[in-house]
Amino acid sequence: MASRPERSAMLSALYSRDLLGPAECPCCGYGGLFEGFGRPLRTGVMCPKCRSLERHRLFHLAHREGLIGFAGADVLHFAPERFIAELVRADRPNSYVTADIEPGRADLVLNLEAIDRPDASSDVVVASHVLEHVDDARAMGELHRILRPGGRLVAMVPLIEGWSRTYENPAVADEEARFHHFGQEDHVRFYGADFRDRLRRAGFTLAEYEAGGSDSVRYRLQRGEKVFLATKA
Ligand SMILES: [Zn+2]
Repeated sequence: MASRPERSAMLSALYSRDLLGPAECPCCGYGGLFEGFGRPLRTGVMCPKCRSLERHRLFHLAHREGLIGFAGADVLHFAPERFIAELVRADRPNSYVTADIEPGRADLVLNLEAIDRPDASSDVVVASHVLEHVDDARAMGELHRILRPGGRLVAMVPLIEGWSRTYENPAVADEEARFHHFGQEDHVRFYGADFRDRLRRAGFTLAEYEAGGSDSVRYRLQRGEKVFLATKA
């Protein structure tokens, strides 16, 4: 059996090896081999220069195509990722505030299920890979409340498009079980295609951005992944 350092060296070799060949990063302009990421390992998905993942690159493309914009807007960004923060700032928003449930990670400590912000106070809210962590009916209601009419929630979640119904299971209560059932220790569900119905129930109208097949190869995206653009009527 391999020793601990041997195992760690094997693992690191596995993660640094890109089995898919070169790709391009729209976030930083890098072109070449990518690195592995995730548990279980997804080979060649992380840009070695800026460390973007598939979802960050998809967000970048949606912005580049003009489907997402922040110019002149009051923007609130939950669980802020650097890649998205850079895009927001470059667009010259009217205001840009970041928020996280954990102190020290963002400008404000905010609970998505009870957002301490006034009604109709934001034009754009970005929530990428956060709704799968919380009571999403409450969170979506709160996100709808703090948006101005015509304002927009930009949301991304882990989603199995082939599942018509979201998988939630009250029996899955500890971290190990949540990892196996929902893909991460602190996730409480795995969304199906009915993620859309949940947003509509909260009062949003929906548009979606996806990348085509050749861009998925060129920019090493997750095929079929979506950016959800939810507008408050
Ligand atoms: Zn990059």
